[in-house]
Parts: sequence; C-alpha cells; structure tokens
Amino acid sequence: MKKVIIGKEEWCSLPELGLPAIKARIDSGAKTSSLHAFNINTFEKDGKNYAHFDIHPVQGNRKIIQSCRGLVVDKRAVKSSSGDKERRLVIRTPVILGEQSWDIEITLTNRDSMGYRMLIGREAMAGRALIDPNASFCLGEIEEKEAIKHYNVVSHRKSGLKILLLASNPDLYSNKRIMEAGEERGHEMTFVNISQCYMNISATNPEVHYRGGELLENVDAVIPRIKPKMTFYGCAITRQFSSIGAYCLNSSLAIARSRDKLRSLQELSNKRIPMPTSGFAKSPVDTKEIIKMVNGAPLVVKLLEGTQGRGVVLAETNKAAESVINAFKSLNTNILVQEFIKEANGEDIRCFVIDGKVVGAIQRKAAAGEFRANLHLGGSASTVNITAEERKIAVKATKTMGLVVAGVDIIRSKDGPKVLEINSSPGLEGIEEITDKDIAGMMIQAVERNVKKSKS
Ligand code: ADP
Repeated sequence: MKKVIIGKEEWCSLPELGLPAIKARIDSGAKTSSLHAFNINTFEKDGKNYAHFDIHPVQGNRKIIQSCRGLVVDKRAVKSSSGDKERRLVIRTPVILGEQSWDIEITLTNRDSMGYRMLIGREAMAGRALIDPNASFCLGEIEEKEAIKHYNVVSHRKSGLKILLLASNPDLYSNKRIMEAGEERGHEMTFVNISQCYMNISATNPEVHYRGGELLENVDAVIPRIKPKMTFYGCAITRQFSSIGAYCLNSSLAIARSRDKLRSLQELSNKRIPMPTSGFAKSPVDTKEIIKMVNGAPLVVKLLEGTQGRGVVLAETNKAAESVINAFKSLNTNILVQEFIKEANGEDIRCFVIDGKVVGAIQRKAAAGEFRANLHLGGSASTVNITAEERKIAVKATKTMGLVVAGVDIIRSKDGPKVLEINSSPGLEGIEEITDKDIAGMMIQAVERNVKKSKS
C-alpha cells in the first residue's frame, strides 16, 4: 500500500464519530493516539461496550460541542505528557487522512493540556504514513472559519441557564474549571467577584449590584465559592441572591454553619456521626480535665479559625499539651482539643460529595515527618477505594450541614472512619487530576437538576 506523507500537524476526519474536520498533532514520540473528550460515559448495547462523550472539535472554540459515540475496545493505563499515569478508555474508529482511510485506536482523555484536540501517535501511523516532522498540513490546510462551518448544523446548543460563579479569584484552577464546565454545557457563565458586589436590602425590591452599577438580575443559579476570609460578606451576598430568586448551590446558611468547626462537630454529634473525641473549654482551670477527656497526649490542638492545616498542632506529651493549650487561651484564641488518631499514619481521605452522592475520593498522605495530610503542606494524593461505610458517613455529614456540594475529610481509625471536617468550597484540582473525573461538569449538572426542580 502506498504510504501517505504527512507533516507534524494535519486536518483529518473521524466520520463515524461525526467529526468531519479536526486538526491533529502527529507525534511519533507518542505511542497511542488520543482525543480530548469530556463528559465521558460508557454504555452497553448488543453485548458491546460503547463510550459516549462530548468534544470541542475546533481548537480554541468552546462553544461548539459535538456529542460522539464510539466502540470501546480496551481500557489502558497511559502516561500523559506530564508523566502521570491515567486509565483511559480506548475506542476504535476509522480515520480519513488525505485519500486514505483506516481503523485506528484512540484513547479518550479529558485533560485539556494538549493544545490540539487530537494527537495521532506512531501506532496509528504504522505501515500507513510517513511523517515529515518539519512539514505541516501536507494534505491541505483548512481555515478555522471553514472548520466551524462543518459543525454549524449540529453544534450550537440552545441557550442555557444564567449562572454566576461567586468567588474571589478567577485564575484559580477550580474557578476556571467551573466556568469552563458551565460553558461546555451551554450556559451563560459570569464570574462575579464577591468583594465587588453590593446590595440593596428592602422589603419590596431587594437587589444585587456589581461595581460600576450593573444590576445582577434574572439569575438562575449561583455557585458560591467563598474563601474563609470572605465568609461573612460572601454569605451575605449569597443570601441576597437567594432572596432575588436565584438557586444557590450551597445555601448561605449551610456555608456559615460548616465554617464554624465547633458547631460542625456539634451538629455531627447530634446525628451520631463518628468523629475524633474533641474537647472545648474556656478557662485554663479546666485544661487538665480536657486533656484527660481526649485520653491524654499525644493529642491535637486546633484553632477554630484555622484552614489548610495551619493552626493544627500535635502535642506529644501532656506537659506540652497543657502549655500549648494555655498559651492559646492566654491569647483569647478559641481552640479544640482532639484525640490524636495515630494509626491514620498521616493519611486522610477527601470525599467529594455532590447532591447526596460521593462522586470522587482521594487519599492524601502527609509529607515525611508531618502528620497533617493537607496538600498545601506538601502532602501527596492518590486514588483510593472507599468503603460503603465511609461513603455513607460522607453523604450523611454533608446532609447534616445542609450542603449540596462538600469535601468531607475522613480519617481511618482503629474504631472505623471518623469525620474530621466538612469543606463547603472543596478544591477541584487534586480530585480531578487523580480520579480523572469531570467534577466541575458534575457540579453544573447538579445546578441544572436543582434549578429544574426549584422551578417545577
Ligand atoms: P484544616 O481545616 O486546617 O485542614 P483539619 O482538621 O482537616 O484542619 O486537619 C488537618 C490535617 O491534620 C488533616 O488532614 C489530618 O491529616 C490531620 N489531622 C487532623 N486531626 C487529626 C487527628 N485528630 N488525628 C490525626 N490526624 C489529624
């Protein structure tokens, strides 16, 4: 068979996936071919496995979405360009390059780090094509405008919901992903900086304005992602949006409740959700008793206002515990004294809960010489299979706080799983990377479901 000569980038077509024009990077350095896909799901039909997924076929254009389905032939661990291993579905489908067509295997990945929508590796080219790495578009170039025309008929989704992301930093991974996931699903997404909102509180006409005077109205939903320092103002704005009829993914009340560590533990205790035994006292006179209550040192002292592991201290002896506790008290700082779960070995589990379901979980391990597993303190994350009990506890804890979206931190003790804390704005980076799930997309789906419910 005559081999086709191709350059390092070419336009090709994947007719069975409904992709008439897609620009691919040809890379003989990579073994497998891959397609940037999202919302990947599998289903079975006539005894065969299929993948259903969405793709933005035109590079740099997020508005055009094509839904595809392909025959799954394998699931494989693939090393991505960043060196991480991920498990990917492999589909088989014909590719057309120039005048020729043959079947190739393509892995599906939802990592958007690849500049190109598609990468063709050497396996797909073997015996079929010769690559000239210095050339581009040997088979002809298509202007982006032309490529868009190929998709016009099938691509533009009906206008979706008007969703505001209420947060502080648009450049954070989590915020970027939520914006992107909403746009992917056809919604009108607006990033709203909490500190630039102001409001009009009145009996007849409550309003929220944005710096410069713009009225934020006709909002279907708000996704609050409030940083701890912004809790008071962020909750006030969320409440205001709620009073003008917007659905809030996490209510202001639930966020405020979960921000108070002591109150959270009390609420969990009311529902008999297991947690490390914790003590709280005002006066130094009671310090010794509090230490005894949590079975003595080693024990953990936690600042009620601490986040990301800062303000969590391990006291190894009763003497040290007493000094630390009394020192904090002399500064009028509110602290929790907690039994130390030694057998957890510096590990904890972050369960990401959306709408009553654990949609992903990762295990975090503390850096050497550290007992706190927070990623901000150099901890590392990996995949984990959680037990049915852990799943149940994470869901129950979320529900107890009244949250729709939460990150529930669980520690494995010799007496079973115990809840450490519940986070109302859990980060997406670690969990999406490790589980390879479109968590941001699932948050948007929850918004869609709940807006529909609230309007019906
Ligand atoms: P923060 O809200 O600041 O992250 P956490 O209560 O979640 O505070 O504690 C930070 C980390 O310290 C946890 O992720 C866990 O690894 C470790 N840790 C916290 N409490 C205990 C405990 N009682 N026993 C053992 N390790 C703990």
